[in-house]
Amino acid sequence: MNPASKTQRNSPDEGRTALGEARQEHKVAEFLKALRNPWRVVPGIIFVILYITLDRLTVFFQMWQGVSAWYPPVGLEVAVLTGLGLAYAPLTFVAGFVASVLNYHLAPFALSTWAMIGISVGGYTGASYLLRRVLRDDAPFQTLGDVFRYLGVALGAAVFVGGLGPLALTWDKFILRSDYPRAALSWFVGDSVALVCLTPFLLLHVTPWLRRHAKNYDQREQIPAANVKRVGAKAFGARGSLELTAQAGSIALALWIVFGSHLAQSYELFYLLFLPTLWIAVRHGMPGATCATLVLNLGAMVMLKIAPEDMQRLGVLQFLMLIVSLTGLCLGALITERESSEQGLREGEARLQAMVGAIDEIVFEFDGAGRIRNVWTTNESALARPKKELMGSSIQQVFGEEVARPFVETLQRVIATGQGESIEYSIPFGSAVRWFLGRVSPIHSPDGAAKTVCMTARDITPRKQAEDDLRRAKEAAEAASQAKSEFLANISHEFRTPMNGILGMTELILDTEINPEQREYLEMVKTSADSLLHLLSDILDFSKVEAGKLELVDHEFALAPSLAETLQVMRFRAQQKGIELLWRVDPNVPERVIGDATRLRQVLVNLVGNAIKFTARGEVRVDVETQEQSEDRVILHFRVTDSGIGIAKEKQSMIFEAFTQADSSTTRNYGGTGLGLAITTRLVTLMEGKLWVESEWGQGSTFHFTVTFGLVQQEQALAMRNQNREGAL
Ligand code: ADP
Repeated sequence: MNPASKTQRNSPDEGRTALGEARQEHKVAEFLKALRNPWRVVPGIIFVILYITLDRLTVFFQMWQGVSAWYPPVGLEVAVLTGLGLAYAPLTFVAGFVASVLNYHLAPFALSTWAMIGISVGGYTGASYLLRRVLRDDAPFQTLGDVFRYLGVALGAAVFVGGLGPLALTWDKFILRSDYPRAALSWFVGDSVALVCLTPFLLLHVTPWLRRHAKNYDQREQIPAANVKRVGAKAFGARGSLELTAQAGSIALALWIVFGSHLAQSYELFYLLFLPTLWIAVRHGMPGATCATLVLNLGAMVMLKIAPEDMQRLGVLQFLMLIVSLTGLCLGALITERESSEQGLREGEARLQAMVGAIDEIVFEFDGAGRIRNVWTTNESALARPKKELMGSSIQQVFGEEVARPFVETLQRVIATGQGESIEYSIPFGSAVRWFLGRVSPIHSPDGAAKTVCMTARDITPRKQAEDDLRRAKEAAEAASQAKSEFLANISHEFRTPMNGILGMTELILDTEINPEQREYLEMVKTSADSLLHLLSDILDFSKVEAGKLELVDHEFALAPSLAETLQVMRFRAQQKGIELLWRVDPNVPERVIGDATRLRQVLVNLVGNAIKFTARGEVRVDVETQEQSEDRVILHFRVTDSGIGIAKEKQSMIFEAFTQADSSTTRNYGGTGLGLAITTRLVTLMEGKLWVESEWGQGSTFHFTVTFGLVQQEQALAMRNQNREGAL
């Protein structure tokens, strides 16, 4: 049976058990793997040896039986459990047990011994468990908050262990019941000093290093250096080394004065120990502060051995060491926190500088009054004035009131609304003027309100120049076109007078007695002159429309009779070609309308003329109906339908352009200039309508157009009728 089918048949419970077993196996494998990593095993062994040795030393430096000035093994224990992991907890038990039996000669099988060690290991393992949750592995003491959290947990554990540990020892009469309060207090203070000076030192300087190596060994690859911000760590040049030596000397001197010299008769001199602590903490932040407090405490231990103190002084000294260590720790954290925020600011500034360099724009910061608070640019020559001159000055001062006004208004608006805006502005640059596009956005202060704005400025002078050139070119082209149309309009007008002369005279001669040959020639002159006149009036109309000079002359007229009058004339031409011209006006169409009857006639003549021209047999129809009507306006829909040659689909849109015909053979076969529909389209547009065509090649065409006419108001019509009647009377 393969494993897959086995899994399928398993019940959920069995599945869970299998999963649990797999996890267990994984953990065992992990543990075995850890045992092969020297970076985990060696520190474990060293820890046990160091623990026992430090414990031994504490016995050596003991203040009174069973209780020492401070107890470093606890500091080591919490650092290892917190920094390297809770897996080291059994080792702390072993180390504690061996140390108790070897150094304090506690009975190995006594319940009190086990209880005391259990309390200590349990208390500090619990504390380490919490510390691992509240402190960052790679940067444990970055802020004052970190320090307070650490102190809360560590000192809480010290109260627990310091209170219960001696109680266990009183059981065996190892400590007398009467000595318990003093022993408990001293135990608590001794542990606390170790937790305050040794643990932070190890967590900051030793465990990250060990962990990194252990990880590297596990993964066989280089892990980048942990993100421990070495703020406060100054570059050690000659001056740095000198300062360091002076600081070490100051610690030694303070220790000697406080413990070794005869000056130290009163407690006041204890406070000398603050001086080197503060100095080092201020100069080197948390890393320096942890070193200083550790050295001070070790030094105090040594000095106590060299120059023993009386019991009373020792009790006070223990407290003092705790307070000095706490001060160093807090001050160091404060300095580190400040330096880290300063570093953040410097990084922010560098990032901004890099961004400004990358976007190739100038960045300004203004306040609401238009004062320049900051300028960032990679190219100072892009600034209208040197940066030094701009900084701190207001726009009014630098560019004058007129340039500044729209600017300041925009800035104030952006600050008030919190909404970004764009502004285009020009500023004098020596003798020239340059244009900029500014994008203004508010800078919100921590309280949420904006007090200053940031503006990025892009030089858009080339674009502006191109726009100006384009506008000038367009104006020139329009002026030229206007002049051309005017010229055409004038010249066509001038042509018409002599043409009418030629036509008139030709007609007069035709009315006289002439021989047939002469008549034939004169008929040809008349036809040519006719079409020339027609062409001229087309050109005149077209150029008038183009020049915007054609205006409609609206008046009231009767639509159907006007239509009939126009088409009647054309019917004659149609009949000559053997085709019929019919028209129908829908009864709904108003009798009288207001519009330009002459231009409507021109449109109809063009369209019906084309229809007759391009139709060989059949009929041409004109239909008129109402499309839309309101109280004072009516839109009429005209249709001119023929059964002629039709227009191919792809040609239908181009026939409305000037000088264009559907086919190159059209002129040859039918004559014409290609201007008629162009003029008609413009006329229809002027009459608030539109023109379009429906046609099939070879099937005939229908030209549609709409025209908007005004309507005669009832009262007006009545009044006019009455007036006429009065006139008649
Ligand atoms: P033209 O003076 O050449 O008639 P138009 O602008 O009036 O100029 O017409 C443009 C072209 O549109 C014509 O040359 C012709 O090819 C086509 N066209 C116009 N009306 C019709 C129609 N009723 N039937 C077929 N083709 C037409």
